[in-house]
Amino acid sequence: MLVAFRMAVQNPDVTIVGAGVVGLAVAYELAGKGKYSVLVLEKNRTFGLETSSHSSGIIHSGIHYLPGSNKARLCVEGNRLLYELAQAHQIPHERKGKFVVASDDSEVPKLEELLERGKANGVEGLEIISGEDVSKVEPHIKAVKALSCPSSGVIDQMALMKMFEGGAKSSGANIAYNTKVVGSIEKLHEGYRVSTISAEGTKDSFSFTTKILINCAGLFADRIAEMAGIDIDAAGYRQRFNKGSYYAVSPEKGRMVKKPIYPVPPEAGKGLGIHITTDINGQMLLGPDSEIVAASDVNYINDGSKQRLFHEEVQRYFPALELADIAPDMVGYRPQLKSGQDFIIREESPRGLPGMINLIGIESPGLTSSLAIALHVKSLVGRLA
Ligand SMILES: Cc1cc2nc3c(=O)[nH]c(=O)nc-3n(C[C@H](O)[C@H](O)[C@H](O)COP(=O)(O)OP(=O)(O)OC[C@H]3O[C@@H](n4cnc5c(N)ncnc54)[C@H](O)[C@@H]3O)c2cc1C
Repeated sequence: MLVAFRMAVQNPDVTIVGAGVVGLAVAYELAGKGKYSVLVLEKNRTFGLETSSHSSGIIHSGIHYLPGSNKARLCVEGNRLLYELAQAHQIPHERKGKFVVASDDSEVPKLEELLERGKANGVEGLEIISGEDVSKVEPHIKAVKALSCPSSGVIDQMALMKMFEGGAKSSGANIAYNTKVVGSIEKLHEGYRVSTISAEGTKDSFSFTTKILINCAGLFADRIAEMAGIDIDAAGYRQRFNKGSYYAVSPEKGRMVKKPIYPVPPEAGKGLGIHITTDINGQMLLGPDSEIVAASDVNYINDGSKQRLFHEEVQRYFPALELADIAPDMVGYRPQLKSGQDFIIREESPRGLPGMINLIGIESPGLTSSLAIALHVKSLVGRLA
Protein backbone atom coordinates (compact mmCIF):
# COMPACT_ATOMS: atom_id res chain seq x y z
CA MET A 1 0.00 0.00 0.00
CA LEU A 2 2.68 2.46 1.07
CA VAL A 3 4.87 1.75 -1.96
CA ALA A 4 1.93 2.28 -4.29
CA PHE A 5 1.03 5.46 -2.43
CA ARG A 6 4.59 6.83 -2.67
CA MET A 7 4.69 6.06 -6.40
CA ALA A 8 1.35 7.79 -6.89
CA VAL A 9 2.13 10.91 -4.91
CA GLN A 10 5.08 12.49 -6.78
CA ASN A 11 4.40 15.87 -5.15
CA PRO A 12 1.05 16.78 -6.73
CA ASP A 13 -0.15 20.24 -7.74
CA VAL A 14 -3.25 19.83 -5.62
CA THR A 15 -3.91 17.72 -2.52
CA ILE A 16 -7.45 17.35 -1.22
CA VAL A 17 -8.04 16.12 2.33
CA GLY A 18 -11.25 14.09 2.52
CA ALA A 19 -13.14 11.86 0.09
CA GLY A 20 -16.69 12.81 1.02
CA VAL A 21 -19.06 14.15 -1.58
CA VAL A 22 -17.42 17.59 -1.48
CA GLY A 23 -13.77 16.44 -1.70
CA LEU A 24 -14.64 14.06 -4.53
CA ALA A 25 -16.58 16.74 -6.43
CA VAL A 26 -13.58 19.07 -6.10
CA ALA A 27 -11.25 16.29 -7.33
CA TYR A 28 -13.60 15.59 -10.26
CA GLU A 29 -13.60 19.23 -11.32
CA LEU A 30 -9.88 19.94 -10.80
CA ALA A 31 -8.58 16.73 -12.40
CA GLY A 32 -10.84 17.17 -15.43
CA LYS A 33 -8.97 17.95 -18.66
CA GLY A 34 -5.71 17.03 -16.88
CA LYS A 35 -4.87 20.63 -15.96
CA TYR A 36 -3.74 19.78 -12.42
CA SER A 37 -2.24 16.64 -10.90
CA VAL A 38 -4.57 15.80 -8.03
CA LEU A 39 -4.19 13.61 -4.94
CA VAL A 40 -7.04 12.88 -2.53
CA LEU A 41 -6.22 11.64 1.00
CA GLU A 42 -8.90 9.76 2.92
CA LYS A 43 -8.43 8.17 6.34
CA ASN A 44 -11.19 5.58 5.87
CA ARG A 45 -11.04 2.47 3.68
CA THR A 46 -13.30 4.01 1.04
CA PHE A 47 -15.18 7.20 0.19
CA GLY A 48 -18.10 8.82 1.94
CA LEU A 49 -18.26 6.76 5.12
CA GLU A 50 -18.86 9.79 7.37
CA THR A 51 -21.35 12.65 6.82
CA SER A 52 -21.87 12.00 3.11
CA SER A 53 -23.40 8.53 3.58
CA HIS A 54 -25.55 9.57 6.55
CA SER A 55 -27.71 12.22 4.89
CA SER A 56 -31.26 12.25 3.56
CA GLY A 57 -30.07 12.52 -0.03
CA ILE A 58 -32.40 15.43 -0.67
CA ILE A 59 -31.62 17.81 -3.51
CA HIS A 60 -32.72 20.96 -1.70
CA SER A 61 -34.39 23.84 -3.52
CA GLY A 62 -32.80 26.70 -1.53
CA ILE A 63 -35.80 28.21 0.27
CA HIS A 64 -34.31 28.07 3.76
CA TYR A 65 -31.09 30.06 3.44
CA LEU A 66 -30.37 33.74 3.96
CA PRO A 67 -30.40 35.62 0.62
CA GLY A 68 -26.88 36.47 -0.49
CA SER A 69 -25.28 33.70 1.62
CA ASN A 70 -22.98 31.00 0.22
CA LYS A 71 -25.61 28.43 1.25
CA ALA A 72 -28.34 30.14 -0.77
CA ARG A 73 -26.23 30.76 -3.88
CA LEU A 74 -24.45 27.39 -3.94
CA CYS A 75 -27.63 25.43 -3.14
CA VAL A 76 -29.68 26.98 -5.94
CA GLU A 77 -26.82 26.62 -8.44
CA GLY A 78 -25.94 23.15 -7.11
CA ASN A 79 -29.55 22.00 -7.45
CA ARG A 80 -29.52 22.77 -11.18
CA LEU A 81 -26.04 21.31 -11.73
CA LEU A 82 -26.85 18.11 -9.86
CA TYR A 83 -29.95 17.36 -11.93
CA GLU A 84 -27.96 17.95 -15.14
CA LEU A 85 -25.13 15.70 -13.94
CA ALA A 86 -27.49 12.98 -12.71
CA GLN A 87 -29.30 13.01 -16.05
CA ALA A 88 -26.07 12.90 -18.07
CA HIS A 89 -24.52 10.07 -16.03
CA GLN A 90 -27.63 7.99 -15.21
CA ILE A 91 -27.28 8.58 -11.46
CA PRO A 92 -30.55 7.45 -9.83
CA HIS A 93 -32.54 10.52 -8.82
CA GLU A 94 -36.09 11.79 -8.83
CA ARG A 95 -37.43 15.33 -8.95
CA LYS A 96 -40.38 14.69 -6.61
CA GLY A 97 -40.93 18.23 -5.36
CA LYS A 98 -41.78 18.74 -1.70
CA PHE A 99 -44.46 20.34 0.46
CA VAL A 100 -43.78 22.48 3.53
CA VAL A 101 -47.05 22.19 5.44
CA ALA A 102 -48.79 24.54 7.85
CA SER A 103 -50.74 22.44 10.35
CA ASP A 104 -52.82 25.40 11.55
CA ASP A 105 -53.45 29.05 10.59
CA SER A 106 -50.81 30.38 12.98
CA GLU A 107 -48.13 28.71 10.82
CA VAL A 108 -49.23 30.22 7.50
CA PRO A 109 -47.16 33.45 7.85
CA LYS A 110 -44.05 31.23 8.06
CA LEU A 111 -44.93 29.72 4.67
CA GLU A 112 -45.18 33.22 3.24
CA GLU A 113 -41.76 34.11 4.69
CA LEU A 114 -40.27 31.00 3.09
CA LEU A 115 -41.93 31.85 -0.22
CA GLU A 116 -40.38 35.34 -0.19
CA ARG A 117 -37.00 34.01 0.87
CA GLY A 118 -37.08 31.34 -1.83
CA LYS A 119 -37.98 33.90 -4.50
CA ALA A 120 -35.16 36.18 -3.32
CA ASN A 121 -32.79 33.21 -3.71
CA GLY A 122 -33.98 32.55 -7.27
CA VAL A 123 -35.85 29.29 -6.53
CA GLU A 124 -38.29 28.62 -9.36
CA GLY A 125 -41.85 27.31 -9.33
CA LEU A 126 -42.71 28.07 -5.69
CA GLU A 127 -46.37 28.55 -4.80
CA ILE A 128 -48.60 28.41 -1.74
CA ILE A 129 -51.41 25.92 -2.25
CA SER A 130 -54.59 25.23 -0.30
CA GLY A 131 -55.20 22.32 2.07
CA GLU A 132 -57.61 20.82 -0.51
CA ASP A 133 -54.88 20.89 -3.16
CA VAL A 134 -52.49 19.18 -0.73
CA SER A 135 -55.11 16.43 -0.19
CA LYS A 136 -55.48 15.84 -3.93
CA VAL A 137 -51.78 14.91 -4.13
CA GLU A 138 -51.23 13.60 -0.60
CA PRO A 139 -54.57 12.39 0.82
CA HIS A 140 -52.99 11.26 4.11
CA ILE A 141 -51.33 14.61 4.90
CA LYS A 142 -53.20 17.13 7.02
CA ALA A 143 -52.47 20.78 6.21
CA VAL A 144 -54.33 24.09 6.10
CA LYS A 145 -51.90 25.31 3.43
CA ALA A 146 -48.56 24.27 1.99
CA LEU A 147 -45.62 25.74 0.14
CA SER A 148 -45.00 23.62 -2.95
CA CYS A 149 -41.31 23.43 -4.02
CA PRO A 150 -41.20 21.55 -7.32
CA SER A 151 -37.40 21.74 -7.70
CA SER A 152 -36.69 19.56 -4.64
CA GLY A 153 -35.76 15.95 -5.25
CA VAL A 154 -33.79 12.98 -4.06
CA ILE A 155 -30.52 11.47 -5.33
CA ASP A 156 -28.57 8.28 -4.69
CA GLN A 157 -25.63 9.89 -2.89
CA MET A 158 -23.45 6.75 -3.02
CA ALA A 159 -23.90 6.52 -6.81
CA LEU A 160 -23.10 10.24 -7.09
CA MET A 161 -19.85 9.80 -5.12
CA LYS A 162 -18.94 6.71 -7.18
CA MET A 163 -19.37 8.80 -10.32
CA PHE A 164 -17.18 11.63 -8.94
CA GLU A 165 -14.54 9.11 -7.84
CA GLY A 166 -14.51 7.29 -11.18
CA GLY A 167 -14.47 10.55 -13.16
CA ALA A 168 -11.62 11.99 -11.09
CA LYS A 169 -9.57 8.80 -11.43
CA SER A 170 -10.08 8.53 -15.17
CA SER A 171 -8.78 12.11 -15.46
CA GLY A 172 -5.62 11.03 -13.63
CA ALA A 173 -6.40 11.84 -9.97
CA ASN A 174 -4.94 9.51 -7.34
CA ILE A 175 -7.02 8.61 -4.31
CA ALA A 176 -5.18 7.23 -1.29
CA TYR A 177 -7.54 5.49 1.11
CA ASN A 178 -6.54 4.43 4.63
CA THR A 179 -4.30 7.49 4.68
CA LYS A 180 -4.71 9.98 7.49
CA VAL A 181 -3.26 13.49 7.57
CA VAL A 182 -1.48 13.94 10.90
CA GLY A 183 0.88 16.25 12.77
CA SER A 184 1.48 19.76 11.61
CA ILE A 185 1.08 21.02 8.07
CA GLU A 186 4.27 22.89 7.28
CA LYS A 187 4.17 26.03 5.13
CA LEU A 188 7.12 25.99 2.68
CA HIS A 189 8.49 28.74 0.44
CA GLU A 190 6.16 27.34 -2.21
CA GLY A 191 3.36 25.07 -1.04
CA TYR A 192 3.05 22.77 1.95
CA ARG A 193 4.58 19.66 3.50
CA VAL A 194 1.86 17.22 4.50
CA SER A 195 2.44 14.23 6.80
CA THR A 196 0.35 11.09 6.71
CA ILE A 197 0.12 7.75 8.43
CA SER A 198 -1.40 4.57 7.13
CA ALA A 199 -4.67 3.88 8.93
CA GLU A 200 -4.43 0.17 8.04
CA GLY A 201 -2.71 -0.90 11.23
CA THR A 202 0.89 -0.71 10.03
CA LYS A 203 0.99 3.01 10.98
CA ASP A 204 3.59 3.60 8.23
CA SER A 205 4.25 7.29 7.88
CA PHE A 206 4.98 9.33 4.80
CA SER A 207 5.28 13.02 3.98
CA PHE A 208 5.31 14.90 0.69
CA THR A 209 4.91 18.40 -0.69
CA THR A 210 2.01 19.91 -2.55
CA LYS A 211 1.52 23.33 -4.14
CA ILE A 212 -2.14 23.64 -3.21
CA LEU A 213 -3.92 22.11 -0.21
CA ILE A 214 -7.70 21.89 -0.11
CA ASN A 215 -9.31 21.01 3.21
CA CYS A 216 -12.56 19.06 2.65
CA ALA A 217 -12.28 17.09 5.90
CA GLY A 218 -15.92 17.47 6.93
CA LEU A 219 -16.34 16.95 10.69
CA PHE A 220 -12.57 17.36 11.16
CA ALA A 221 -12.01 20.33 8.84
CA ASP A 222 -11.38 22.66 11.80
CA ARG A 223 -8.63 20.31 13.03
CA ILE A 224 -6.92 20.33 9.61
CA ALA A 225 -7.02 24.14 9.63
CA GLU A 226 -5.50 24.08 13.12
CA MET A 227 -2.71 21.75 11.91
CA ALA A 228 -1.75 24.50 9.44
CA GLY A 229 -1.37 26.93 12.36
CA ILE A 230 -4.73 28.71 12.17
CA ASP A 231 -6.22 29.84 15.48
CA ILE A 232 -9.65 28.30 14.84
CA ASP A 233 -11.39 30.22 17.61
CA ALA A 234 -10.14 33.58 16.40
CA ALA A 235 -10.98 32.62 12.80
CA GLY A 236 -14.47 31.39 13.76
CA TYR A 237 -13.68 27.94 12.36
CA ARG A 238 -14.43 25.79 15.43
CA GLN A 239 -17.06 23.21 14.52
CA ARG A 240 -19.53 21.32 16.69
CA PHE A 241 -21.05 17.89 16.11
CA ASN A 242 -24.73 18.34 15.30
CA LYS A 243 -26.35 14.91 15.50
CA GLY A 244 -29.33 14.03 13.34
CA SER A 245 -31.33 10.87 14.10
CA TYR A 246 -33.68 9.03 11.76
CA TYR A 247 -36.59 6.63 12.21
CA ALA A 248 -37.71 4.24 9.47
CA VAL A 249 -41.42 3.87 8.68
CA SER A 250 -43.10 0.53 7.97
CA PRO A 251 -43.69 -0.23 4.26
CA GLU A 252 -47.47 -0.13 4.76
CA LYS A 253 -47.46 3.46 6.08
CA GLY A 254 -44.50 4.39 3.88
CA ARG A 255 -46.62 3.82 0.79
CA MET A 256 -49.16 6.42 1.96
CA VAL A 257 -47.00 9.49 1.19
CA LYS A 258 -45.28 10.26 -2.11
CA LYS A 259 -43.36 13.50 -1.61
CA PRO A 260 -41.00 14.76 1.08
CA ILE A 261 -43.17 16.59 3.64
CA TYR A 262 -41.66 19.23 5.94
CA PRO A 263 -43.33 21.07 8.81
CA VAL A 264 -42.71 24.82 9.06
CA PRO A 265 -39.18 25.14 10.44
CA PRO A 266 -38.71 25.62 14.20
CA GLU A 267 -36.62 28.50 15.56
CA ALA A 268 -33.26 29.12 13.86
CA GLY A 269 -30.59 26.54 14.62
CA LYS A 270 -33.03 23.68 15.37
CA GLY A 271 -32.85 22.14 11.90
CA LEU A 272 -35.72 21.99 9.44
CA GLY A 273 -38.20 20.29 11.78
CA ILE A 274 -38.82 16.53 11.80
CA HIS A 275 -39.83 15.78 8.26
CA ILE A 276 -40.76 12.86 6.04
CA THR A 277 -38.43 11.83 3.24
CA THR A 278 -38.28 8.77 1.06
CA ASP A 279 -34.85 7.59 -0.01
CA ILE A 280 -34.00 6.55 -3.54
CA ASN A 281 -35.02 2.93 -2.75
CA GLY A 282 -38.47 3.98 -1.57
CA GLN A 283 -37.82 3.64 2.18
CA MET A 284 -39.70 6.32 4.11
CA LEU A 285 -37.65 7.98 6.84
CA LEU A 286 -38.56 10.50 9.55
CA GLY A 287 -35.92 13.05 10.49
CA PRO A 288 -33.27 14.12 10.97
CA ASP A 289 -33.60 16.19 14.15
CA SER A 290 -30.84 18.41 15.47
CA GLU A 291 -28.83 17.90 18.69
CA ILE A 292 -25.39 19.27 19.56
CA VAL A 293 -23.25 16.53 21.16
CA ALA A 294 -19.72 16.29 22.57
CA ALA A 295 -17.03 14.69 20.40
CA SER A 296 -16.80 11.87 22.96
CA ASP A 297 -20.49 11.03 22.35
CA VAL A 298 -20.13 10.54 18.61
CA ASN A 299 -21.24 7.06 17.56
CA TYR A 300 -23.45 5.85 14.75
CA ILE A 301 -25.94 3.93 16.91
CA ASN A 302 -29.56 5.06 17.27
CA ASP A 303 -30.65 4.01 20.77
CA GLY A 304 -34.34 4.53 19.99
CA SER A 305 -34.84 7.04 22.81
CA LYS A 306 -36.56 9.59 20.56
CA GLN A 307 -39.22 7.30 19.09
CA ARG A 308 -42.11 8.87 20.99
CA LEU A 309 -40.99 12.42 20.20
CA PHE A 310 -40.61 11.70 16.47
CA HIS A 311 -44.01 10.04 16.39
CA GLU A 312 -45.72 12.99 18.12
CA GLU A 313 -44.11 15.58 15.83
CA VAL A 314 -44.94 13.79 12.61
CA GLN A 315 -48.42 12.66 13.63
CA ARG A 316 -49.48 16.35 13.65
CA TYR A 317 -49.40 16.33 9.85
CA PHE A 318 -49.52 12.55 9.12
CA PRO A 319 -52.30 11.40 11.51
CA ALA A 320 -52.37 7.78 10.32
CA LEU A 321 -48.86 7.22 11.69
CA GLU A 322 -48.75 5.14 14.86
CA LEU A 323 -45.91 4.67 17.33
CA ALA A 324 -45.46 1.03 16.32
CA ASP A 325 -45.04 2.05 12.66
CA ILE A 326 -41.58 3.49 13.27
CA ALA A 327 -38.23 2.00 14.26
CA PRO A 328 -34.78 3.52 14.96
CA ASP A 329 -32.64 3.97 11.86
CA MET A 330 -29.32 5.72 11.10
CA VAL A 331 -27.75 8.76 12.72
CA GLY A 332 -25.50 11.32 11.04
CA TYR A 333 -23.39 14.26 12.20
CA ARG A 334 -23.23 17.72 10.66
CA PRO A 335 -20.10 19.84 11.10
CA GLN A 336 -21.83 22.89 12.48
CA LEU A 337 -20.49 26.34 13.13
CA LYS A 338 -22.45 28.72 15.32
CA SER A 339 -26.15 28.31 14.67
CA GLY A 340 -27.25 29.41 11.25
CA GLN A 341 -23.75 30.41 10.19
CA ASP A 342 -22.87 30.24 6.52
CA PHE A 343 -20.49 27.83 4.72
CA ILE A 344 -16.91 29.12 4.93
CA ILE A 345 -14.91 28.56 1.73
CA ARG A 346 -11.72 30.57 1.94
CA GLU A 347 -8.35 30.81 0.21
CA GLU A 348 -6.00 31.71 3.03
CA SER A 349 -3.52 34.18 1.45
CA PRO A 350 -4.70 36.94 3.84
CA ARG A 351 -3.62 34.66 6.72
CA GLY A 352 -0.19 34.11 5.16
CA LEU A 353 -1.16 30.66 3.83
CA PRO A 354 -1.41 31.12 0.05
CA GLY A 355 -2.71 28.06 -1.75
CA MET A 356 -4.52 26.64 1.26
CA ILE A 357 -8.29 26.53 0.77
CA ASN A 358 -10.44 25.71 3.79
CA LEU A 359 -14.03 24.46 3.58
CA ILE A 360 -15.51 24.76 7.06
CA GLY A 361 -19.03 24.12 8.36
CA ILE A 362 -20.18 22.23 5.27
CA GLU A 363 -23.42 20.98 6.78
CA SER A 364 -26.70 20.81 4.83
CA PRO A 365 -27.14 21.67 1.96
CA GLY A 366 -23.61 20.40 1.28
CA LEU A 367 -24.72 17.44 -0.83
CA THR A 368 -26.95 19.62 -3.02
CA SER A 369 -24.22 22.24 -3.29
CA SER A 370 -21.33 19.82 -3.90
CA LEU A 371 -20.80 20.55 -7.60
CA ALA A 372 -21.35 24.29 -7.20
CA ILE A 373 -18.85 24.29 -4.30
CA ALA A 374 -16.38 22.40 -6.52
CA LEU A 375 -16.70 24.98 -9.30
CA HIS A 376 -16.22 27.80 -6.79
CA VAL A 377 -13.08 26.10 -5.40
CA LYS A 378 -11.83 25.59 -8.97
CA SER A 379 -12.17 29.33 -9.61
CA LEU A 380 -10.19 30.05 -6.41
CA VAL A 381 -7.46 27.63 -7.58
CA GLY A 382 -7.51 29.24 -11.06
CA ARG A 383 -6.77 32.63 -9.51
CA LEU A 384 -3.65 31.21 -7.84
CA ALA A 385 -2.07 29.86 -11.00
C1 LIG B 1 -28.31 13.94 9.15
C2 LIG B 1 -27.86 14.69 7.93
C3 LIG B 1 -28.75 14.92 6.88
C4 LIG B 1 -28.34 15.64 5.76
N1 LIG B 1 -29.21 15.80 4.72
C5 LIG B 1 -28.82 16.48 3.62
C6 LIG B 1 -29.68 16.60 2.49
O1 LIG B 1 -30.76 16.01 2.48
N2 LIG B 1 -29.28 17.35 1.44
C7 LIG B 1 -28.08 18.01 1.43
O2 LIG B 1 -27.80 18.72 0.48
N3 LIG B 1 -27.20 17.86 2.46
C8 LIG B 1 -27.53 17.11 3.53
N4 LIG B 1 -26.67 16.95 4.58
C9 LIG B 1 -25.37 17.59 4.50
C10 LIG B 1 -24.38 16.78 3.66
O3 LIG B 1 -24.49 15.41 3.95
C11 LIG B 1 -22.96 17.28 3.95
O4 LIG B 1 -22.92 18.68 3.76
C12 LIG B 1 -21.93 16.63 3.03
O5 LIG B 1 -22.06 15.24 3.03
C13 LIG B 1 -20.55 17.05 3.49
O6 LIG B 1 -19.62 16.37 2.68
P1 LIG B 1 -18.09 16.50 2.97
O7 LIG B 1 -17.38 15.86 1.85
O8 LIG B 1 -17.76 17.94 3.27
O9 LIG B 1 -17.86 15.75 4.37
P2 LIG B 1 -17.65 14.18 4.69
O10 LIG B 1 -18.58 13.32 3.97
O11 LIG B 1 -17.65 14.07 6.19
O12 LIG B 1 -16.18 13.87 4.16
C14 LIG B 1 -15.02 14.33 4.83
C15 LIG B 1 -14.01 13.23 4.74
O13 LIG B 1 -12.77 13.72 5.27
C16 LIG B 1 -12.11 12.61 5.85
N5 LIG B 1 -11.10 13.11 6.80
C17 LIG B 1 -11.31 13.83 7.93
N6 LIG B 1 -10.14 14.06 8.56
C18 LIG B 1 -9.17 13.47 7.82
C19 LIG B 1 -7.76 13.34 7.96
N7 LIG B 1 -7.09 13.85 9.01
N8 LIG B 1 -7.08 12.67 6.99
C20 LIG B 1 -7.72 12.13 5.93
N9 LIG B 1 -9.06 12.19 5.76
C21 LIG B 1 -9.77 12.86 6.68
C22 LIG B 1 -13.23 11.86 6.56
O14 LIG B 1 -12.87 10.53 6.82
C23 LIG B 1 -14.39 12.01 5.58
O15 LIG B 1 -14.53 10.89 4.73
C24 LIG B 1 -27.03 16.18 5.70
C25 LIG B 1 -26.12 15.92 6.74
C26 LIG B 1 -26.53 15.15 7.83
C27 LIG B 1 -25.55 14.82 8.91
